[in-house]
Amino acid sequence: MQTAEIRRRFLEHFEQRGHTVVPSASLVSPDPSLLFTVAGMVPFIPYLTGREPAPYPRATSVQKCVRTLDIEEVGKTTRHGTFFQMNGNFSFGDYFKTEAIQYAWELVTGSVADGGLGLDPERIWPTVYLDDDEAFAAWRAYVPEERIQRRGMDDNYWSTGAPGPAGPCSEIHYDRGPEFGPGGGPAVDPTGDRYLEIWNLVFMQYERGPGEGKDFPILGDLPKQNIDTGMGLERVAYLLQGVDNMYEIDEVAPVLRRAADLAGVRYGADHEADVRLRVVADHVRSGLMLIGDGVTPGNEGRGYILRRLLRRAVRSMKLLGVDEATLPELLPVSRDAMSASYPELAGDFARISGVAYAEEEAFRRTLTAGTALFDTAVGQAKQSGTPALSGAQAFSLHDTYGFPIDVTLEMAAEQGVTVDESGFRALMKEQRDRARADARAKRTGSVDVLAYRRLLSEFGPTDWRAYDALRTDSRVLG
Ligand code: ATP
Ligand code: MG
Ligand code: MG
Ligand code: MG
Repeated sequence: MQTAEIRRRFLEHFEQRGHTVVPSASLVSPDPSLLFTVAGMVPFIPYLTGREPAPYPRATSVQKCVRTLDIEEVGKTTRHGTFFQMNGNFSFGDYFKTEAIQYAWELVTGSVADGGLGLDPERIWPTVYLDDDEAFAAWRAYVPEERIQRRGMDDNYWSTGAPGPAGPCSEIHYDRGPEFGPGGGPAVDPTGDRYLEIWNLVFMQYERGPGEGKDFPILGDLPKQNIDTGMGLERVAYLLQGVDNMYEIDEVAPVLRRAADLAGVRYGADHEADVRLRVVADHVRSGLMLIGDGVTPGNEGRGYILRRLLRRAVRSMKLLGVDEATLPELLPVSRDAMSASYPELAGDFARISGVAYAEEEAFRRTLTAGTALFDTAVGQAKQSGTPALSGAQAFSLHDTYGFPIDVTLEMAAEQGVTVDESGFRALMKEQRDRARADARAKRTGSVDVLAYRRLLSEFGPTDWRAYDALRTDSRVLG
């Protein structure tokens, strides 16, 4: 089943059950405290927190998401993209647990002929929070109790990290079979390879008081209890398409195949090359979708994340042996693969591709220009008897020549020279703190602290940690 068809079925399923279909919001987060939209609920935060009355009691959407924190996983697990789509259904003080579980079950296991997804009911393993007997009982209507697992705070509880709404959640896992690991259910599968998490149902049930971390009192029931769910579209697609991971689905695989052709390698022949090809396919798609939503490459914030994604794709191709410009070969393939769901990409492609190709060109020039400075610095370091580049040199390569630190580290290693990375990081931090202080001074104070803290607790600070993730990951791969 094509990804676009799964999306259509999802929306239709919930529309038939009284939900208003809401188009995806932009990847540029409508919530000012986040760089990117990281989950389907982000556009609905005002309704979920009660800050604004919901214009409808039930809604459903397929939301474009970017999670930079998952970048280290891309290509290595089967299920993490920097860009992905989250199918969601939402209840604003309307239905609650029993219906949320029922609707999810009906879609996941409903027959393909009747509009369902036709997954094998015997392979479904739900998890519920430790003491959530209500969710457990609701699942018992469909699943034998030995396949319903109770899990603790870390896996099955949602909270903002501050006083306000909180509650248990229930996750739906699909057993991919014994060839992917030992049995026993999601609670004993640390990799998530065998029991694939496909859907998270969050029950916003309680009012919580102040407290540290997971230690806080429950003050009582919320006056309006909400449902917030998120199903990974690519994860379901890879199950239904009979492929091994989300980079091999119809919306991503064509780029992977084209990259393999360009590099003259056979996908599946070598693990390291496969990871790189999956990274390329993922990052090219993320770049396409981010530029499509108006992000342009730059040195901070969203622009920096986009820049790193594009450059990492280009560099990965270089490491696969391709020295020519690669985005003109790969981006149109990604556009075509995504156009069933996002037909607007075609009309906007002249602009999108212009931005992407210019970035690749800039990166190639950077590599050429920075390499001269780099060679001088390395020559000096070797002469000085302590073959190490200072933090200041690495910083200057980065700041003046746009030389990414992972590239510096990699090239230094090739020359047998070390880099004062912590010195570099301290200088980066100084620069960011300055930028942040400037941004703070400019802001008007309209940030929703509650939403911010909730997402912060769930995803960590999206912007700055992502730099580290990008850096570490590129280096590991590089
Ligand atoms: P995981 O534990 O696999 O990292 P998660 O618990 O972080 O997933 P949620 O925050 O619960 O994910 O998001 C809801 C759903 O969105 C998940 O059940 C999954 O199907 C999907 N999803 C989350 N992150 C990604 C990603 N990086 N790429 C693709 N799908 C994702
Ligand atoms: Mg995750
Ligand atoms: Mg999870
Ligand atoms: Mg989850």
